[in-house]
Amino acid sequence: MITRRLIATACTLLVAGLAVPAPLQLAGGGAAALLLVNGRIHTPAGIVQAMAVDAKGVIIALGTTEELDQLPTSGARRIDLEGHAVLPGFHDLHVHPIFAGMQAQRCVIPQGSSLPALQRIVKACADKAGPGKWITGGQWDVAAIGRAPNRAMLDAISPHNPVLLGDSSEHSAWANSLALSTAGLDRRTVNPPNGIIERDKSGQPTGLLREDAVLLVRQHVPAPTDAELRSALESSLATMLSFGITSFTEAAAGYSSTLEKEVKAYAAVADAGVLKQRTRLCMSWVPDDAAADAVIAARNLYARSRLSPDCVKMFLDGVPTDSHTAAMLEPYAGTVEGRDDEASRRGMLLLKQDVIDAAVTRFDRMGLAVKFHAAGDAAVHAGLNAIEAARRANGFSGVLHDVGHCTFVARADIPRARAIGATFEVSPYLWAPSPITDDIAAAVGPETIKRVWPIREMIDSGALVVPGSDWSVVPSVNPWIAVEMLVTREPSGGGDRSFGKAEAISLKEAVDLFTVNSARHRHLEGMVGAIATGMLADLIVLDRDPFDTPVHRLHEVQVMTTIINGDVVFQR
Ligand SMILES: [Zn+2]
Repeated sequence: MITRRLIATACTLLVAGLAVPAPLQLAGGGAAALLLVNGRIHTPAGIVQAMAVDAKGVIIALGTTEELDQLPTSGARRIDLEGHAVLPGFHDLHVHPIFAGMQAQRCVIPQGSSLPALQRIVKACADKAGPGKWITGGQWDVAAIGRAPNRAMLDAISPHNPVLLGDSSEHSAWANSLALSTAGLDRRTVNPPNGIIERDKSGQPTGLLREDAVLLVRQHVPAPTDAELRSALESSLATMLSFGITSFTEAAAGYSSTLEKEVKAYAAVADAGVLKQRTRLCMSWVPDDAAADAVIAARNLYARSRLSPDCVKMFLDGVPTDSHTAAMLEPYAGTVEGRDDEASRRGMLLLKQDVIDAAVTRFDRMGLAVKFHAAGDAAVHAGLNAIEAARRANGFSGVLHDVGHCTFVARADIPRARAIGATFEVSPYLWAPSPITDDIAAAVGPETIKRVWPIREMIDSGALVVPGSDWSVVPSVNPWIAVEMLVTREPSGGGDRSFGKAEAISLKEAVDLFTVNSARHRHLEGMVGAIATGMLADLIVLDRDPFDTPVHRLHEVQVMTTIINGDVVFQR
């Protein structure tokens, strides 16, 4: 009773206090350059109507429209939000903008295309290009084609053009006979390290190439010019702004061209003022790669105010699709068509543990974050081991390393991340029931698929969890597709096909993944990721309030305005 009376008194005081509010002031005595009024601005302290931002992009006041109108804000640009919701800008911590832009300029095959549909598209691309020209592009999925693809299927429609098509995961490629012969691949060619050439019974390559075997053919495809790289990047940057992505991590600089060329392309768009997003570059690295080591050593030549080349990308395994290249602790449900080797049963760990440990310890000491590609639970385990080794050697450096994708994580590894300061980076867009997930489900079997992307367990363990789209492995970089699936674990709009319902999280948790959690992972949490006085104005204005939207319609949420550092950088 006493407690209740005390609370009642406190409430009366609060109400009394609200009746005579202290007049709102502009923080720092600054001048407003931008006013947002009449909105539903989501702050950690609740919803407010209006906001003032100064010329440096700092939020200097939050309050009611009436309160802000009484401040000396003449000369400020005034945007009437007309009741729309405002959230912090979203982060995408695993995206491939250059690759996505390049992909759009190549032979575009929609994910899930049947074999006849794919053949029609590739034939049209070849007819348009003319004889002898390389046809590259993607994407294809075994689940949609119905069986393992082979070169004859492409020879039938493109005998006079070399063809090389990436699958949806971009970890396997499919070549026709002319592409194989141009690259000199035949029955005598041995598998390269970390790569598999699939073969028929006579030992002849079938046209299917796994992981680093793809490079044997890809190195014969004409390299993109600097102008092509730059236009690919610019178009992807604009697309990401239209989806409200105000910060992102390039997950594998050096994938579509050389590392040096790609890092220079980023620096060039930053210098031209085209790069608006707060950007981290994860520079692709493999052991004994002198060229990559040279770029990493010279990284600060390319650093700009919104460009941080402060991350190294290491691939620990492949993908748990029909290729069985993700490294798994338990065997796959079956073996790869035509192959019964150890890689077919448990996948491939691409680097030895002591090599990974030494690399992470070295990069950690340099202040560089490491992002792992780790899809299988054995690869996630190895990545966590390496971060633990770095902590043991260096103490806690403060640099946050992340294990990326985390498609499968052993139960025993879930609590380790928090203890060693490792971040789990998950790919919720990939999770959508789709051709690629059908492939994964078939490869690992019905029991294992139930714990795919164990995000609920990760959050409950207290680990830092962040999201990445992996675009253009997924067809759209729109984060609202992922937000909906994190909450429903169903296809966009709802449906019966579902995996891992027990791993669903709340809408608030899903939005946190894209905002505060991501900011924290990049040590930007004092500047962006939440809306508060003193923070930088990285904001998105939405066409509806996601917290008042039925969950199955969250994928329809549209960004109307994107603001970075107080500048309007996109308007629908
Ligand atoms: Zn990726």
